[in-house]
Formats: sequence, structure tokens, C-alpha cells
Amino acid sequence: MKKLIDVEFHLVVIPKTPLGSDIDVARGDAKDIREAIIRHVDGVADVNLEYDSDYRCSFCDGPWTEKSDTYNGYCCEEDEKNNPQLTTT
Ligand SMILES: [Zn+2]
Repeated sequence: MKKLIDVEFHLVVIPKTPLGSDIDVARGDAKDIREAIIRHVDGVADVNLEYDSDYRCSFCDGPWTEKSDTYNGYCCEEDEKNNPQLTTT
């Protein structure tokens, strides 16, 4: 019979205040916390900085909602220039 066992543990650090909503500020805050942990906590060799990724429109930064890699269903005027129905010959 199969059983599930714990084989490795990871620590997740939750900051006292949420990281900034601006992605560059959040990245900088996370790096600062990482460096502080390495500098001040005994027995820590390294801290991995992990993050989630999300696809966005390169023109308007809106959420990417379509399967296509080039057209996002008219999220903005620049995106519409890649509408395959308009660019076919
Ligand atoms: Zn767009």
C-alpha cells in the first residue's frame, strides 16, 4: 500500500508588510529581505527567491487572455494591428 511521507522541508518567509504592488519595488524588497536573512540568520547558506509569472500584452501591459502569441483579442489599439483577420492578404 502506498503512503505519503514528508521528505524535505522548505521555509517560506512572510514579510510583516506586503511587498510593493509595483513589480520592480516588490522584487527589490524581496532581494533586500533575502540578503538580510543570509547576513543575520545562522545556518542559512542561501535563500531562493521564487516568483510566479503571468503573460501580459507588451503594448498596454493588460492580461494576456488568448491562446495566440501575437494577438490578444483587441486589448488595445497596438494589439489590434496584429489581428490575423486584418493582416491576411
Ligand atoms: Zn494591449
